[in-house]
This record gives sequence, structure tokens and C-alpha cells, in this order.
Amino acid sequence: MSVNLQTPIDYLKGVGPNRADLLRSELGIHTYQDLINLFPNRYLDRTKYYKISELQRNSAEVQIVGKITGFKEVAQKRGKRLVGKFQDDTGTMELVWFRGQKWIRDSIKLNTPYVIFGKINWYNGVFNMPHPELELLSEHKQNLRSSMQAVYPSTEKLANKGITNRVISKIMQNLFLETKGRFVETLSDSLISELKLLPKSDALFNVHFPKNQELLSRAEFRLKFEELFYIQLQLILKNLIHKSKIKGFPFESVGDYFNTFYKDHLPFDLTNAQKRVIKEIRQDLGSNAQMNRLLQGDVGSGKTIVAFMSMLMALDNGFQACLMAPTEILSVQHYQGLQELSNNLNISIKLLTGSSTTLKRREIHESLENGDLNILIGTHALLEEKVKFKNLGLAIIDEQHRFGVAQRSKLWKKNTSPPHILVMTATPIPRTLAMSVYGDLDISIIDELPPGRQAIKTVHRFDTNRLKVMRFMRDEIEKGRQIYVVYPLIQESSALDYKDLMDGYESIVREFPLPKYQISIVHGKMKPADKEYEMQRFVKGETQIMVATTVIEVGVNVPNASVMIIESAERFGLAQLHQLRGRVGRGAEQSYCILMTSYKLSQDSKIRLETMTRTSDGFEIAEVDLKLRGPGDIMGTQQSGVLNLKIADVIKDKDILQDARFHAKRILSSDPSLGFPEHKIILQTYRALSKYKNIWNYIS
Ligand code: ADP
Ligand code: MG
Repeated sequence: MSVNLQTPIDYLKGVGPNRADLLRSELGIHTYQDLINLFPNRYLDRTKYYKISELQRNSAEVQIVGKITGFKEVAQKRGKRLVGKFQDDTGTMELVWFRGQKWIRDSIKLNTPYVIFGKINWYNGVFNMPHPELELLSEHKQNLRSSMQAVYPSTEKLANKGITNRVISKIMQNLFLETKGRFVETLSDSLISELKLLPKSDALFNVHFPKNQELLSRAEFRLKFEELFYIQLQLILKNLIHKSKIKGFPFESVGDYFNTFYKDHLPFDLTNAQKRVIKEIRQDLGSNAQMNRLLQGDVGSGKTIVAFMSMLMALDNGFQACLMAPTEILSVQHYQGLQELSNNLNISIKLLTGSSTTLKRREIHESLENGDLNILIGTHALLEEKVKFKNLGLAIIDEQHRFGVAQRSKLWKKNTSPPHILVMTATPIPRTLAMSVYGDLDISIIDELPPGRQAIKTVHRFDTNRLKVMRFMRDEIEKGRQIYVVYPLIQESSALDYKDLMDGYESIVREFPLPKYQISIVHGKMKPADKEYEMQRFVKGETQIMVATTVIEVGVNVPNASVMIIESAERFGLAQLHQLRGRVGRGAEQSYCILMTSYKLSQDSKIRLETMTRTSDGFEIAEVDLKLRGPGDIMGTQQSGVLNLKIADVIKDKDILQDARFHAKRILSSDPSLGFPEHKIILQTYRALSKYKNIWNYIS
């Protein structure tokens, strides 16, 4: 009979009710299983002993043999600290206790060899070690030492309550004794032999008590693989179920709209990436399953025409299509852009936003329901109850990070059967992350910019160089260019940020006076109509400078604007900086991005600025962003569950992730219900995991 791993942790030898409470509240360890899955952060070499004379100021944790020769008490602001003088044959140092002083004094044997272990500090010209782990040398010699002793995650509270790393190691040992270290296998024989994986029990043993470096590496590989494998299995299964259950509208043919446009009205040659993506979409739309596709493409990569041509496929099959954008300005731009593209095609396109008049709305509602209207473009207004389609076949969402998942599903309900969905985003998500988070969406990537684009010259300038920057602005305006000046507005309500914006605006107005210069200003506190008016003046080229907050971040297209100045650039995140820069470089002219900052820069800000000036590759920038902020932050807390990995790391272990995905896919393609006898273990493990883990609750 093996030990049931769901046994509450209280029952384990060496734990007891108090420690169990702490383990639960501090580390989320409720059961034996949870404890086994408490994986070490790192490993320490406990076979190495330092001499005091060898200590360096940057030494981390060290182990030293020596004697305590005496104690003194030192008064400090609050209470006192106990200082022990510790020496070996090369020098002396101090041991320091802020708590538990009486117990230390009573139990320490003076002038007796001890082994101490802990972090060292350099203070007042001597090394000291606060709250060292202490062991009599005579006892120490009886224990086996390993060159790789596990260091477990801990918290201050645990440390204060005496649950040191040694205690955790000890109870982990008890767990292995009690279970005899035998654990149920969770991967199939064929995977284990094919990938030469360690069996589960060996892997668990070696990750907690590594016998040597090689076994440790193999143990880690096996456990990371397993973790990622089951997540991928879940994501792919969900996608398969979705496809088999949810019938889409098959767009059987590519018809006149598409073909005429493609043959006669294409305004430019498509890039290879655009062609590939259109093919991928075509394949989805032609199949019986509902499409659920994410289209990633950097700013300016040409997603709009892909969207338009997908819509034509819907129209060719007698369906309607819609395109939803997060802001009024963007919707208007899409509306104008699509109208231009469809000029010769006899298609009816309308725009619906918050500021559409009642009359217009009524018109739209009517023509939508009777089928006269082919394409509807707009903001959230599209989601209103009253907006009913005759037969919506394709819904496209631009810049999806602005829309919640709930809103996405509202679009579904507009039909008896859900329309095909294409989500477009310009926020490049590193492929590995997309794979683990959006595994249920199919992904298309436009990884190529239209030809002839000049790289945007990006520089970093300190505020003290403002005069030079102003001179540069004047020169560019002289050449007929337009300029954005963007201020951070981190919080909509921040009065200070608005003051910065208005101060900046006023100083620009002083430098660039009327009537020679015309300046637009757009910010979140303005009425939509005023914003629109100011924006339009800039779009039409009536104003030369656009002073704005980040409301212009998304999608706006003014090809003649060739300079982007970002004020207080150190306050923006990388993704935002990249988006903002993407507003320029859309025309034929050399474009510039100037990042203005003060001299005070954090380490992270420096990395962000350096990254921006070094590269314009959205995926590379996204990778840096991911490293700086961590995956949870990037995807939002809502989705962070899936990234709550116990041992693997989506960034560092992307090769293993790729492997895991490959094998999960392969297994499911031959056996989608996991019914083959050789997949029994996988099915069982998968079921158990879905029952116990909430990490499977990822985005809908
Ligand atoms: P985004 O992906 O940022 O939405 P857009 O669709 O707005 O990009 O395209 C940016 C600009 O590039 C537009 O002016 C568009 O007309 C142009 N464009 C798109 N595809 C091509 C192409 N294959 N060749 C030349 N220009 C293109
Ligand atoms: Mg766009």
C-alpha cells in the first residue's frame, strides 16, 4: 500500500499543528503532494568550508568551522543585539542575534568547535553573520554532506518561527522515508523511453536530494517537461473540443468580391507574410469549425488589408462582417481606410460609435437586420443590445488587449451560431508565451514589414538638451513634416500628469507661436467630439504639432508625421514606447523617435531606453519586456494563473516548452480522447490534475 499523497501535511512526522498552519498560510502547502512539489530555488555546496581570511565582501552563503570565544550585548535603538566573537585559525568575525538571545547564550558551548552557516555582511570593518545556522562539529561530522543541498523558497515569517531551510529539508526527508520514495508514474512508458526521461520517483528524489549534477539536470528536465506537457495537453484538447463542438459557417467559396479585389484593386503587392496569413485564415473559414484566430503583427505590418480581405470572404458567402476597435479615432480611421479599399466594389460599409446620432443608429439597425449593410465598423457601441445582424459571419477585433474576454464573448451571442473571430493585436507577445497562454487560439504572425520602410532613428536625450530638440523640431516642420509630442498619463485622474501636459503644451505654444504654427492637443479629459476635431486637424495636416497623452497610442495613421517625441520616457513601459514609436515611420520620409528623460533613471528604465534605441523588432522588445516585468504582469493578473508554474519557466525553458507542445500535439492527433491503453497514465494524470489544480482556469 502506498501512502496517499492527498494526506494533510499535519500527519507528516516533524510537522505538527503549528508548523502545518504556517506551511499552509506561508507556502500554500496543504498535503504531502504540495510538499513534494515545493521545488528548490537553488542548491548550495555544503562540502566546501571557508576560512575567515578567505571571505570576500560579496561572498553569499558560507560555511566555516571555528569556535565562539565570548559574547557581548550591544544596545541599539530598540532593545539590544547579542554579538558572539567567532574565530578560526585565520581570523575573527562576529555572529549576531537580534532575537532568541537567551536561548543562544544558554545553549552555546564556548570554545568548542562549531560549523556555522549563513550569509555574511561587512559592517564597521568586520565580517558578521546574522542568525547563523549552528551545529557542533562533532555532530556535523556524522551527517552526510552533499555538494548540492536544496534551498527552498521561504518567507520572513517562516524564518522567524524557526522553520529554517534545515527544518524543511528534514521534513522533506521524512516524507521520502514515509513514502519509501516511491511515487506513481505520471508519464507514459513511450514518452519516458523516447525522451530518455528519469522515472518520476527518481526525478523527485534527485530534485530534492541530488546525487550529482547530471542527475539533478535530468530530474529538472523531467519535471519541467511534465509540467509543461500537461498544460499544453489541456490547451490543445480545449481547442480540439472547441473545433469539434462549435460548428462555424463554412465559407465554401472565394467569390467575386475577393477575386475582383485581388485581381484589379489591390493597392500594392502583398508581402509574403500577408499572403501566408490570408491563406491560414482562408483555410479556417473554409473548414467546418469556427475560427478563433489571433493575428499578431507589429505596428505598420499591414493587418488592415488582411482584415479587409477576410471580410470579403464572408461577403462572398452571403454573410456580414464587423470590425470593432477600442477608440472612436481608430474606428473612424478603419472606416475611412476600408471605404477607400472597397471603392470599386459596391459594398455597403457603415460606422457606429458612441457619437452616432439616433437617426443614423436607426438606419444602421435597420440595414443590419435586413441584410443591406455588409460591413459594420465601430467601437464598443457594436456590443449594444440593439445591434442585431441578419447573418454575422466574421467578427474582427482590433487591438484586443483593450477589450476584455467578456466583451469578446458578447459578440458571439449576436448569432445563433458564433461567427468566426479574428483578433488582431500589435502587441507582440513572445511566441513561447503566446503558446502557453493563448494555446487555445490559433496564431498567425505577420513578421515582415511592407517594403521600402526606413528604419526609425531613435535617440535618448536628457531634458537639459531641450533647446536642441526644439531646434530640430523647427527644422522638420520647415521640411513640411508633422510632429507628435506625447506626455505620460499614467493615471487618468492624476492632476500632476495633467499639469505636466499643460505646462508642456504652453511651452511649446511659446516656442511655436501662431499664426505660423498650429498646434493640436488631445487628452482623455476632452469630450470625444473635441478630441475628434483636434485629431482631424492633425490628420488633415492643418496643425504641425500634436501634443497628446497616450490616447494616440493605438493605431492612428498619419503618414506625414515623422517625429515622435516622448516626454518622461522613463515612465513608460516598453510595450507602450514601442506602440508610440509605431505612430511614425509610416510615410516615405526618414522618421525619428526622441526619448526625453531626466537624469534620474532606474536600472529598469535604463534597460528600456537602451532596448528602444537598439532595436525596432517588436518581438525582441517583447522578450526584454517579459524579462523585466515577468509574464504575469504582461498578460494581466486575470491570466497569470496559467503562468503560475511550479518548476518550469516560460522564458528560460522555452525549448522544453516547444518539446512538450510537440509531443502533446502528436499524442492527441493520433488519440484525441486519450483512449489508447498506452495513454492510460496520461489520461489518469490529466484527470487528476484538472480536478485539483486551478491553474487550468485560464482565459476563456
Ligand atoms: P497595422 O498592422 O499597424 O494595422 P496598417 O494595416 O495600418 O498596419 O498598414 C500600415 C501602412 O502600410 C498602411 O498605410 C498600408 O496601406 C500600408 N501597407 C500595408 N501592406 C502593405 C504592402 N504589402 N505594401 C505596401 N504598403 C502596405
Ligand atoms: Mg492597425
